[in-house]
Amino acid sequence: MPIRSQFKIFSDSNLNSPNPFVYLDSAATTHKPQSVVDVICEFYQTQNANVHRGSYTTANLVTARYEQARINIAAFIGANDHTDIVWTKGTTESINLVAYAWGENNLSSGDTIVVLGSEHHANFVPWQQLALRKNAHFEVVNILPNGDVDLTHYQALMANKPKLVALQHCSNALGNIHPIKSLTELAKQAGATVLVDGAQAVAHLPVNVKDIGCDFYAFSGHKMYGPTGVGVLYIAPNIKNKISPFHFGGEMIQNVTREKTTFRPIPAMLETGTPNISGILGLNAALEFIQSAPAIEALKNNAQTYDYLIDQLSKIDSVNIIGASNNIGVASFVVEGESVSDIGTLLNEQNVAVRCGHHCAMPLMQALNVSGTVRVSLGIYNDKSDIDLFISALKKALAVLN
Ligand code: PLP
Repeated sequence: MPIRSQFKIFSDSNLNSPNPFVYLDSAATTHKPQSVVDVICEFYQTQNANVHRGSYTTANLVTARYEQARINIAAFIGANDHTDIVWTKGTTESINLVAYAWGENNLSSGDTIVVLGSEHHANFVPWQQLALRKNAHFEVVNILPNGDVDLTHYQALMANKPKLVALQHCSNALGNIHPIKSLTELAKQAGATVLVDGAQAVAHLPVNVKDIGCDFYAFSGHKMYGPTGVGVLYIAPNIKNKISPFHFGGEMIQNVTREKTTFRPIPAMLETGTPNISGILGLNAALEFIQSAPAIEALKNNAQTYDYLIDQLSKIDSVNIIGASNNIGVASFVVEGESVSDIGTLLNEQNVAVRCGHHCAMPLMQALNVSGTVRVSLGIYNDKSDIDLFISALKKALAVLN
Protein backbone atom coordinates (compact mmCIF):
# COMPACT_ATOMS: atom_id res chain seq x y z
CA MET A 1 0.00 0.00 0.00
CA PRO A 2 1.45 3.44 -0.89
CA ILE A 3 2.58 5.26 2.24
CA ARG A 4 0.23 8.21 1.84
CA SER A 5 -2.87 6.02 1.64
CA GLN A 6 -2.08 4.68 5.11
CA PHE A 7 -2.97 8.13 6.50
CA LYS A 8 -6.72 8.71 6.20
CA ILE A 9 -6.38 12.42 6.85
CA PHE A 10 -5.03 12.95 3.34
CA SER A 11 -8.20 11.58 1.74
CA ASP A 12 -10.74 13.05 4.16
CA SER A 13 -13.27 14.79 1.94
CA ASN A 14 -13.99 17.69 4.32
CA LEU A 15 -10.36 18.47 5.00
CA ASN A 16 -9.28 18.22 1.37
CA SER A 17 -11.86 20.54 -0.09
CA PRO A 18 -11.78 22.90 -1.94
CA ASN A 19 -7.95 22.60 -1.92
CA PRO A 20 -5.92 19.49 -1.11
CA PHE A 21 -4.65 19.49 2.47
CA VAL A 22 -0.89 20.13 2.44
CA TYR A 23 0.63 19.15 5.77
CA LEU A 24 4.14 20.53 6.27
CA ASP A 25 4.32 20.55 10.06
CA SER A 26 5.64 17.10 10.93
CA ALA A 27 8.32 18.55 13.23
CA ALA A 28 5.43 19.59 15.49
CA THR A 29 3.73 16.22 15.26
CA THR A 30 3.45 13.56 12.60
CA HIS A 31 0.18 12.05 11.44
CA LYS A 32 -0.56 8.48 12.48
CA PRO A 33 -0.84 5.60 10.02
CA GLN A 34 -4.01 3.48 10.21
CA SER A 35 -2.08 0.60 11.83
CA VAL A 36 -1.35 2.81 14.85
CA VAL A 37 -4.97 3.97 15.12
CA ASP A 38 -6.20 0.37 14.79
CA VAL A 39 -3.96 -0.94 17.57
CA ILE A 40 -5.22 1.72 19.97
CA CYS A 41 -8.88 1.03 19.11
CA GLU A 42 -8.43 -2.74 19.35
CA PHE A 43 -6.82 -2.42 22.76
CA TYR A 44 -9.85 -0.63 24.19
CA GLN A 45 -12.36 -2.77 22.28
CA THR A 46 -10.98 -6.22 22.98
CA GLN A 47 -8.11 -6.25 25.48
CA ASN A 48 -8.44 -3.40 27.94
CA ALA A 49 -6.69 -4.41 31.18
CA ASN A 50 -4.03 -2.99 33.46
CA VAL A 51 -0.45 -4.23 33.15
CA HIS A 52 1.68 -6.15 35.68
CA ARG A 53 -1.26 -6.75 38.02
CA GLY A 54 -3.78 -9.18 36.64
CA SER A 55 -4.13 -12.89 37.11
CA TYR A 56 -6.36 -13.29 34.07
CA THR A 57 -5.84 -13.81 30.36
CA THR A 58 -6.27 -10.32 28.91
CA ALA A 59 -4.11 -8.73 31.64
CA ASN A 60 -1.33 -11.22 30.97
CA LEU A 61 -1.62 -10.75 27.22
CA VAL A 62 -1.49 -6.96 27.46
CA THR A 63 1.46 -7.10 29.89
CA ALA A 64 3.37 -9.28 27.44
CA ARG A 65 2.67 -6.89 24.54
CA TYR A 66 3.56 -3.88 26.68
CA GLU A 67 6.90 -5.39 27.70
CA GLN A 68 7.58 -6.53 24.14
CA ALA A 69 7.23 -2.88 23.10
CA ARG A 70 10.00 -2.03 25.56
CA ILE A 71 12.24 -4.71 24.04
CA ASN A 72 11.49 -3.39 20.54
CA ILE A 73 12.24 0.22 21.49
CA ALA A 74 15.52 -0.85 23.10
CA ALA A 75 16.54 -2.59 19.87
CA PHE A 76 15.41 0.43 17.79
CA ILE A 77 17.86 2.76 19.54
CA GLY A 78 20.62 0.18 20.01
CA ALA A 79 20.31 -0.13 23.79
CA ASN A 80 21.76 -3.26 25.34
CA ASP A 81 18.80 -4.12 27.45
CA HIS A 82 15.07 -3.43 27.68
CA THR A 83 15.51 -2.38 31.32
CA ASP A 84 17.36 0.70 30.03
CA ILE A 85 14.04 2.00 28.65
CA VAL A 86 11.71 4.08 30.84
CA TRP A 87 8.25 5.03 29.56
CA THR A 88 7.31 8.66 29.96
CA LYS A 89 4.71 11.07 28.57
CA GLY A 90 7.17 12.47 26.03
CA THR A 91 10.52 14.21 25.60
CA THR A 92 9.58 17.03 27.96
CA GLU A 93 8.76 14.65 30.78
CA SER A 94 11.86 12.54 30.09
CA ILE A 95 14.12 15.57 30.44
CA ASN A 96 12.37 16.92 33.52
CA LEU A 97 12.58 13.47 35.06
CA VAL A 98 16.38 13.53 34.67
CA ALA A 99 16.54 17.09 36.01
CA TYR A 100 14.90 15.86 39.23
CA ALA A 101 15.72 12.15 39.58
CA TRP A 102 19.41 12.66 38.64
CA GLY A 103 19.89 16.42 38.98
CA GLU A 104 18.71 16.90 42.55
CA ASN A 105 21.29 14.45 43.95
CA ASN A 106 24.19 14.90 41.58
CA LEU A 107 24.49 18.62 41.04
CA SER A 108 25.94 20.97 43.64
CA SER A 109 26.54 24.66 44.07
CA GLY A 110 29.29 25.85 41.71
CA ASP A 111 28.85 22.99 39.21
CA THR A 112 28.35 23.80 35.54
CA ILE A 113 25.57 22.78 33.14
CA VAL A 114 26.05 23.33 29.39
CA VAL A 115 23.29 23.41 26.76
CA LEU A 116 23.25 24.47 23.12
CA GLY A 117 21.91 27.88 22.18
CA SER A 118 19.51 26.20 19.75
CA GLU A 119 17.73 23.96 22.27
CA HIS A 120 13.97 23.58 22.38
CA HIS A 121 12.74 25.10 25.64
CA ALA A 122 12.16 21.53 26.89
CA ASN A 123 15.94 20.98 26.94
CA PHE A 124 16.81 24.48 28.10
CA VAL A 125 14.46 25.59 30.86
CA PRO A 126 14.64 22.44 33.07
CA TRP A 127 18.45 22.92 33.24
CA GLN A 128 18.26 26.66 33.71
CA GLN A 129 15.85 26.10 36.59
CA LEU A 130 17.95 23.28 38.08
CA ALA A 131 20.97 25.60 37.98
CA LEU A 132 18.95 28.27 39.79
CA ARG A 133 17.83 25.77 42.47
CA LYS A 134 21.39 24.55 42.99
CA ASN A 135 23.26 27.80 42.55
CA ALA A 136 25.11 26.18 39.63
CA HIS A 137 26.48 27.85 36.47
CA PHE A 138 24.28 27.64 33.38
CA GLU A 139 26.29 28.01 30.16
CA VAL A 140 24.83 28.30 26.68
CA VAL A 141 26.90 27.36 23.62
CA ASN A 142 26.92 29.96 20.85
CA ILE A 143 25.22 29.10 17.60
CA LEU A 144 26.55 30.11 14.17
CA PRO A 145 24.32 32.09 11.77
CA ASN A 146 23.35 28.84 9.96
CA GLY A 147 22.26 27.19 13.22
CA ASP A 148 25.32 24.96 13.60
CA VAL A 149 27.17 24.68 16.90
CA ASP A 150 30.10 27.05 17.41
CA LEU A 151 32.62 24.29 18.08
CA THR A 152 35.31 26.65 19.36
CA HIS A 153 32.94 27.96 22.00
CA TYR A 154 31.75 24.42 22.80
CA GLN A 155 35.31 23.26 23.37
CA ALA A 156 36.07 26.31 25.49
CA LEU A 157 33.07 25.50 27.70
CA MET A 158 34.19 21.88 28.04
CA ALA A 159 37.36 23.24 29.66
CA ASN A 160 35.11 24.24 32.62
CA LYS A 161 34.57 20.51 33.30
CA PRO A 162 30.76 20.65 33.25
CA LYS A 163 28.80 18.21 35.36
CA LEU A 164 26.04 17.92 32.77
CA VAL A 165 25.89 18.60 29.03
CA ALA A 166 22.41 18.56 27.47
CA LEU A 167 22.37 18.48 23.67
CA GLN A 168 19.72 18.35 21.00
CA HIS A 169 20.46 15.74 18.35
CA CYS A 170 18.68 17.85 15.69
CA SER A 171 17.26 21.36 15.81
CA ASN A 172 13.46 21.52 15.79
CA ALA A 173 13.49 25.12 14.53
CA LEU A 174 16.00 24.75 11.66
CA GLY A 175 16.41 20.99 11.19
CA ASN A 176 20.23 21.02 11.52
CA ILE A 177 21.69 17.61 12.37
CA HIS A 178 24.37 18.17 14.98
CA PRO A 179 27.57 16.06 15.18
CA ILE A 180 26.14 14.34 18.22
CA LYS A 181 28.75 11.62 18.57
CA SER A 182 31.72 13.99 18.60
CA LEU A 183 29.92 16.50 20.85
CA THR A 184 29.17 13.68 23.29
CA GLU A 185 32.75 12.42 23.09
CA LEU A 186 34.13 15.86 23.95
CA ALA A 187 31.69 16.19 26.86
CA LYS A 188 32.61 12.74 28.14
CA GLN A 189 36.33 13.57 27.93
CA ALA A 190 35.52 16.59 30.12
CA GLY A 191 33.90 14.25 32.64
CA ALA A 192 30.29 15.29 32.02
CA THR A 193 27.08 13.30 32.16
CA VAL A 194 25.42 13.70 28.77
CA LEU A 195 21.73 13.89 27.91
CA VAL A 196 20.65 13.91 24.27
CA ASP A 197 17.26 15.25 23.21
CA GLY A 198 16.37 13.02 20.27
CA ALA A 199 12.83 14.34 19.72
CA GLN A 200 13.56 15.40 16.14
CA ALA A 201 16.04 12.67 15.29
CA VAL A 202 14.28 9.33 15.74
CA ALA A 203 11.89 9.66 12.80
CA HIS A 204 14.67 10.66 10.39
CA LEU A 205 17.99 9.09 11.39
CA PRO A 206 19.25 5.74 12.59
CA VAL A 207 19.96 6.20 16.31
CA ASN A 208 22.35 4.08 18.31
CA VAL A 209 22.72 5.24 21.90
CA LYS A 210 25.76 3.06 22.56
CA ASP A 211 27.52 4.44 19.53
CA ILE A 212 26.67 8.01 20.56
CA GLY A 213 27.92 7.22 24.06
CA CYS A 214 25.34 9.31 25.93
CA ASP A 215 23.97 8.63 29.40
CA PHE A 216 20.38 9.65 28.63
CA TYR A 217 18.46 9.80 25.36
CA ALA A 218 14.93 11.25 25.28
CA PHE A 219 12.23 11.21 22.61
CA SER A 220 8.48 11.37 21.97
CA GLY A 221 6.15 8.90 20.27
CA HIS A 222 4.07 11.50 18.47
CA LYS A 223 6.96 12.80 16.34
CA MET A 224 7.63 9.30 14.97
CA TYR A 225 4.12 8.43 13.75
CA GLY A 226 2.98 7.21 17.16
CA PRO A 227 0.40 8.61 19.55
CA THR A 228 0.67 11.68 21.75
CA GLY A 229 1.26 11.30 25.48
CA VAL A 230 3.92 8.62 25.28
CA GLY A 231 7.69 8.97 25.24
CA VAL A 232 10.94 7.29 26.10
CA LEU A 233 13.89 7.91 28.33
CA TYR A 234 16.94 5.72 27.73
CA ILE A 235 19.17 5.43 30.79
CA ALA A 236 22.65 3.94 30.35
CA PRO A 237 23.39 1.09 32.77
CA ASN A 238 26.39 2.82 34.37
CA ILE A 239 24.34 5.77 35.62
CA LYS A 240 21.34 3.95 37.06
CA ASN A 241 22.80 3.85 40.56
CA LYS A 242 22.92 7.67 40.61
CA ILE A 243 19.17 8.03 40.12
CA SER A 244 16.61 8.34 42.89
CA PRO A 245 12.86 7.88 42.68
CA PHE A 246 11.03 11.02 41.67
CA HIS A 247 7.32 10.16 41.85
CA PHE A 248 6.02 7.76 44.46
CA GLY A 249 3.11 5.31 44.34
CA GLY A 250 2.16 1.89 43.07
CA GLU A 251 4.22 -0.38 40.76
CA MET A 252 7.61 1.03 41.84
CA ILE A 253 7.47 -0.66 45.21
CA GLN A 254 9.41 -3.60 46.60
CA ASN A 255 8.14 -3.35 50.16
CA VAL A 256 6.24 -0.84 52.29
CA THR A 257 5.91 -0.68 56.05
CA ARG A 258 4.72 2.19 58.23
CA GLU A 259 8.33 3.21 58.72
CA LYS A 260 10.01 2.52 55.45
CA THR A 261 9.64 1.81 51.72
CA THR A 262 12.03 0.05 49.40
CA PHE A 263 11.89 0.43 45.64
CA ARG A 264 12.22 -1.82 42.61
CA PRO A 265 15.09 -1.16 40.20
CA ILE A 266 14.81 1.03 37.09
CA PRO A 267 12.65 1.06 34.98
CA ALA A 268 9.87 0.22 37.52
CA MET A 269 11.31 2.73 40.02
CA LEU A 270 10.58 5.58 37.61
CA GLU A 271 7.24 4.33 36.26
CA THR A 272 4.84 4.67 39.14
CA GLY A 273 1.08 4.58 38.53
CA THR A 274 -0.89 3.15 35.64
CA PRO A 275 0.98 3.89 32.42
CA ASN A 276 -0.31 4.98 29.01
CA ILE A 277 -0.85 1.38 27.89
CA SER A 278 -2.71 2.11 24.65
CA GLY A 279 -0.10 4.75 23.82
CA ILE A 280 2.76 2.32 24.31
CA LEU A 281 1.05 -0.31 22.15
CA GLY A 282 0.43 2.43 19.58
CA LEU A 283 4.09 3.43 19.72
CA ASN A 284 5.05 -0.18 19.09
CA ALA A 285 2.82 -0.15 16.00
CA ALA A 286 4.51 3.08 14.90
CA LEU A 287 7.86 1.35 15.27
CA GLU A 288 6.69 -1.49 13.03
CA PHE A 289 5.45 1.10 10.53
CA ILE A 290 8.67 3.13 10.47
CA GLN A 291 10.77 -0.02 10.04
CA SER A 292 8.63 -1.39 7.19
CA ALA A 293 10.14 -1.52 3.70
CA PRO A 294 7.73 1.08 2.18
CA ALA A 295 8.46 3.52 5.01
CA ILE A 296 12.22 3.11 4.61
CA GLU A 297 11.81 3.73 0.86
CA ALA A 298 9.61 6.79 1.46
CA LEU A 299 12.15 8.22 3.89
CA LYS A 300 14.81 7.97 1.17
CA ASN A 301 12.50 9.84 -1.24
CA ASN A 302 12.07 12.54 1.39
CA ALA A 303 15.69 13.57 0.81
CA GLN A 304 14.87 14.40 -2.84
CA THR A 305 11.66 16.15 -1.82
CA TYR A 306 13.71 18.24 0.59
CA ASP A 307 16.25 19.21 -2.10
CA TYR A 308 13.34 20.20 -4.33
CA LEU A 309 11.80 22.28 -1.54
CA ILE A 310 15.05 24.18 -0.93
CA ASP A 311 15.58 24.65 -4.66
CA GLN A 312 12.07 26.06 -5.20
CA LEU A 313 12.17 28.28 -2.10
CA SER A 314 15.59 29.67 -3.06
CA LYS A 315 14.13 30.92 -6.34
CA ILE A 316 11.88 33.38 -4.47
CA ASP A 317 14.08 36.48 -4.07
CA SER A 318 12.62 37.82 -0.83
CA VAL A 319 12.90 34.46 0.99
CA ASN A 320 15.85 34.02 3.33
CA ILE A 321 16.34 30.39 4.40
CA ILE A 322 18.07 29.83 7.74
CA GLY A 323 19.71 26.49 8.51
CA ALA A 324 22.38 24.08 7.35
CA SER A 325 22.09 21.58 4.50
CA ASN A 326 22.84 18.62 6.80
CA ASN A 327 19.19 18.57 7.73
CA ILE A 328 16.29 16.33 8.73
CA GLY A 329 13.95 17.98 6.22
CA VAL A 330 13.12 21.38 7.68
CA ALA A 331 13.14 24.66 5.74
CA SER A 332 12.93 27.60 8.11
CA PHE A 333 12.73 31.01 6.51
CA VAL A 334 11.90 34.67 6.88
CA VAL A 335 10.67 37.06 4.20
CA GLU A 336 12.08 40.57 4.19
CA GLY A 337 9.62 43.04 5.62
CA GLU A 338 6.83 40.52 6.24
CA SER A 339 5.44 39.08 9.47
CA VAL A 340 5.73 35.30 9.66
CA SER A 341 2.29 34.98 11.24
CA ASP A 342 0.69 36.85 8.31
CA ILE A 343 2.34 34.37 5.95
CA GLY A 344 1.06 31.46 8.06
CA THR A 345 -2.48 32.83 8.01
CA LEU A 346 -2.48 33.30 4.25
CA LEU A 347 -1.07 29.79 3.73
CA ASN A 348 -3.74 28.34 6.00
CA GLU A 349 -6.43 30.06 3.92
CA GLN A 350 -5.12 27.93 1.04
CA ASN A 351 -5.16 24.74 3.18
CA VAL A 352 -1.37 24.65 3.67
CA ALA A 353 -0.28 23.84 7.24
CA VAL A 354 3.11 25.18 8.37
CA ARG A 355 4.31 26.52 11.70
CA CYS A 356 5.20 30.17 12.20
CA GLY A 357 6.87 31.71 15.24
CA HIS A 358 9.72 30.96 17.62
CA HIS A 359 9.22 27.17 17.65
CA CYS A 360 9.83 26.98 21.42
CA ALA A 361 13.42 28.06 20.76
CA MET A 362 13.44 31.72 21.85
CA PRO A 363 17.17 31.82 22.72
CA LEU A 364 17.92 30.63 19.16
CA MET A 365 15.65 33.29 17.65
CA GLN A 366 17.43 35.90 19.77
CA ALA A 367 20.82 34.64 18.55
CA LEU A 368 19.63 34.76 14.93
CA ASN A 369 18.14 38.19 15.50
CA VAL A 370 14.68 37.25 14.22
CA SER A 371 11.39 37.16 16.12
CA GLY A 372 10.38 33.94 14.40
CA THR A 373 10.46 31.97 11.17
CA VAL A 374 8.09 30.15 8.86
CA ARG A 375 8.94 26.47 9.33
CA VAL A 376 8.18 23.89 6.66
CA SER A 377 8.89 20.38 7.94
CA LEU A 378 8.57 17.18 5.96
CA GLY A 379 7.10 13.85 6.95
CA ILE A 380 7.24 10.47 5.29
CA TYR A 381 3.97 11.18 3.39
CA ASN A 382 5.14 14.38 1.65
CA ASP A 383 6.18 14.45 -1.97
CA LYS A 384 6.94 16.98 -4.71
CA SER A 385 3.25 17.66 -5.31
CA ASP A 386 3.02 19.05 -1.75
CA ILE A 387 5.98 21.30 -2.46
CA ASP A 388 4.41 22.59 -5.69
CA LEU A 389 1.15 23.39 -3.87
CA PHE A 390 3.07 25.07 -1.04
CA ILE A 391 5.24 27.18 -3.35
CA SER A 392 2.25 28.31 -5.37
CA ALA A 393 0.36 29.18 -2.15
CA LEU A 394 3.40 31.06 -0.80
CA LYS A 395 3.71 33.10 -3.99
CA LYS A 396 0.02 34.03 -3.75
CA ALA A 397 0.45 34.95 -0.08
CA LEU A 398 3.45 37.17 -0.86
CA ALA A 399 1.54 38.83 -3.71
CA VAL A 400 -1.29 39.69 -1.28
CA LEU A 401 1.17 41.10 1.26
CA ASN A 402 3.06 43.25 -1.24
N1 PLP B 1 12.80 18.73 22.04
C1 PLP B 1 12.67 18.98 20.74
C2 PLP B 1 13.91 19.11 19.89
C3 PLP B 1 11.41 19.13 20.18
O1 PLP B 1 11.28 19.38 18.88
C4 PLP B 1 10.28 18.99 21.01
C5 PLP B 1 8.93 19.21 20.48
O2 PLP B 1 8.75 19.92 19.51
C6 PLP B 1 10.47 18.70 22.37
C7 PLP B 1 11.75 18.57 22.84
C8 PLP B 1 9.31 18.49 23.27
O3 PLP B 1 8.62 17.33 22.89
P1 PLP B 1 7.23 16.95 23.56
O4 PLP B 1 6.35 18.16 23.42
O5 PLP B 1 6.74 15.80 22.75
O6 PLP B 1 7.50 16.61 24.97
